[in-house]
Amino acid sequence: FKVKMDDFELFEELGKGNYGTVQKVVHKPTGVTMALKEIRLELDDSKLKTIITELDILHRATSPYIIDFYGAFFIESCVYYCMEFMDGGSLDYLAGTDIPEDVLAKVTRCMVEGLKFLKDELKIMHRDVKPTNVLLNMKGYVKLCDFGVSGQLDRSLAKTNIGCQSYMAPERIKGESQGATTSYTASSDVWSLGLSIIEAAIGHYPYPPETYSNVFAQLTAIVHGDPPTLPDQYSDLAKDFVGQCLRKQAHTRPNYKQLLAHPWLESVKDKDVDVAGWVARAHEYRKTHPKIQAPALA
Ligand code: ADP
Repeated sequence: FKVKMDDFELFEELGKGNYGTVQKVVHKPTGVTMALKEIRLELDDSKLKTIITELDILHRATSPYIIDFYGAFFIESCVYYCMEFMDGGSLDYLAGTDIPEDVLAKVTRCMVEGLKFLKDELKIMHRDVKPTNVLLNMKGYVKLCDFGVSGQLDRSLAKTNIGCQSYMAPERIKGESQGATTSYTASSDVWSLGLSIIEAAIGHYPYPPETYSNVFAQLTAIVHGDPPTLPDQYSDLAKDFVGQCLRKQAHTRPNYKQLLAHPWLESVKDKDVDVAGWVARAHEYRKTHPKIQAPALA
């Protein structure tokens, strides 16, 4: 079916991104609760139509590790993107709430499954792997959103401040600073995965802003410094997994098949891990310990 604005009853705002807001809505014809993302773009109608057409391939994207897509439309210069509502919130919100290691491994496994699905079935890379783009629900499902499915949309979203809190791999930072456009392969998403796992464990971006006096120093640390590691309380297997994701040389990082076969992810493959229990505890914790956003570097 086709979704349109008149079909929605609007509820609270779920979050704000760089280009607009995400709102909780109910689709009146079906009674289904959804999340409606508004993306403000100054584009002509033909480009907006291209975006809607390109987003259409998402109707083929059904995977338990990918946010369900219900449809998109545009009004004036805004694209409206309608998707599955996730009541657990994003991984950055839940991060740092004492995540047990088996839950961290399960969340990671789901992310790798999602990335592998995008690559194998849709032939796309994610291009923006980070904790805010990993959504969870109270049932314990972990799903990816905001992947680069529409070339036109990606080109239209001017990549503002690549600096602060960059999850970009070293080769991408180097490539962009040299104006290259081909420095990107799936292994760059593997780097971003590694950083996201550490953030889920420690509760903040792994290159802490207070350590660097400016964005340039932070990017220099990513390109030239040693990669961050998981804290000591995690197992050697977990540290090894993250270490492989964060290899500085892109071509030496494992691919998704190899990552899924790593003993750390193998250990939770058929294990009934209580992700839902952790999401519920994390929500309780956040009621008394709200997430404080780190100040952006200049
Ligand atoms: P960004 O542009 O920073 O990636 P988004 O605009 O995609 O952020 O989303 C902003 C916030 O809205 C997310 O961090 C999340 O908390 C919330 N959100 C996004 N999509 C959904 C969804 N499908 N269900 C529930 N909350 C969502």
